[in-house]
Amino acid sequence: MVLGGQRGLNVWKWGGFCNKSNYQGVWCPRIREEQSMTTATEQKKATRAGNYFISNYPPFSFWSEGANPEVEEAYAQLAQAETPLGLYHHIPFCRKRCHFCYFRVYTDKSAADIKQYLDATLQELEMMAKKPLIQGRQPKFIYFGGGTPSYLSAKQLGELTDRMKKILPWDEAEEVAFECEPGTLNEGKLKAIKDIGVTRLSLGIENFDDHILEINGRAHRSKEVGRAYERARAEGFEQINIDLIAGMIEETEENWQRNIEKTIELSPESVTIYQMEIPYNTTIYKEMKDAGKLVAPVADWETKRRWVKEAFAALESAGYTIGSGYTAVKNPAKTKFLYRDLLWGGADLLGLGVASFSHAAGVHYQNLTEIDEYTKAISEGVMPTKRSFRTTEEQRMIREFILQMKLGKVDGDYFAQKFGVDVLNRWSGELAQLSEEKLLSVQSGQILLERDGLLCVDNILHDFFLPEHRTDRIV
Ligand code: SF4
Repeated sequence: MVLGGQRGLNVWKWGGFCNKSNYQGVWCPRIREEQSMTTATEQKKATRAGNYFISNYPPFSFWSEGANPEVEEAYAQLAQAETPLGLYHHIPFCRKRCHFCYFRVYTDKSAADIKQYLDATLQELEMMAKKPLIQGRQPKFIYFGGGTPSYLSAKQLGELTDRMKKILPWDEAEEVAFECEPGTLNEGKLKAIKDIGVTRLSLGIENFDDHILEINGRAHRSKEVGRAYERARAEGFEQINIDLIAGMIEETEENWQRNIEKTIELSPESVTIYQMEIPYNTTIYKEMKDAGKLVAPVADWETKRRWVKEAFAALESAGYTIGSGYTAVKNPAKTKFLYRDLLWGGADLLGLGVASFSHAAGVHYQNLTEIDEYTKAISEGVMPTKRSFRTTEEQRMIREFILQMKLGKVDGDYFAQKFGVDVLNRWSGELAQLSEEKLLSVQSGQILLERDGLLCVDNILHDFFLPEHRTDRIV
């Protein structure tokens, strides 16, 4: 995968940062008052296990498992004319499992297993395309995520997408995004990816240093990055995105600066930088647990935020614009990311494949998370739902609000028109507090995040959750 596809959205535990208590202005608020400052400082600095990144609302822990008739009900209704549709296809195969990976991936599947899986996803698409909610609609954006979509051969990709297009034509798709692991990209593969209509090629580089790539369990090395990038440029993709992670195991100040320099040298249309988090289902966490350690062997949050801050500043000096808490784009007028923007604006998303996430007419759901269970359900003609959550209008409003906060700018008029809610008034106390902490400002009906607020935006978002959805944060 390239981080940022269908990322886990759970928020489990957190202890709190404090903007007021120094840390070069990159910390977030919220230290628990009962803790002594020393203890709190130590706790908030360390990277502990848990999910930091928020990609949906309400959190997973509130979704219910079971047959989920609300998912069937959602698909039985007709779509609202103005709601765009997106298609997500999950390819859960990788050459190797990275030590920080928390996705559903398989590294041991045969060509026959892969074929069986791809066939099942096509059957799922056939089944879903007949539902009233999807019938007659065409996807506006398409996303191939994983896992590693570029793990598929050129032939597999061609056959898969030809069959997908026959079931649900892509003629209206304005964006086809595709995640790649650099080591899987030979010339023929990149040509095939271009031929199927990919407009946004996302390269999961994560780091340019061979030792760091190796120690973190990545399958590719720097030589493959250079070759893949050159070939991708030669193919003429509209948009190339580079993914980096700040705070991989053994990252150093010097090496991080080199990562920034090399990224700027390559000059991609878009750069996405994540701060390393250690969810519970990662190899790193397993090793921490076995060794009885509470703190992950990666940089603390203060350092990770500073690194992203420095990268953003360097990218800005090189002409980039910061478009969210994680991204910089060279030309914001031209370089869009529809998957993110339309999803964060309430689009329907039909997710295909094992463990995929979908959002259908206000119902969130996730597919079964084991490949055998998933293919079995599909072969029986049953929707492969694992868990779901039917949102209320208020929850949908909060979801859009918190997701749009990640872009660094929220427009009050948008929420007044779409939901009839004055968000500036509804959260006046929270916004005043965050303004006082210099994490954002409210101007002319808009909420504008300061750079320090943007760098810890996932922490700030908890303040806008309904009381029943607030859980402990991890930082
Ligand atoms: S194993 Fe590595 S490449 Fe595969 S999905 Fe996980 S992080 Fe991405």
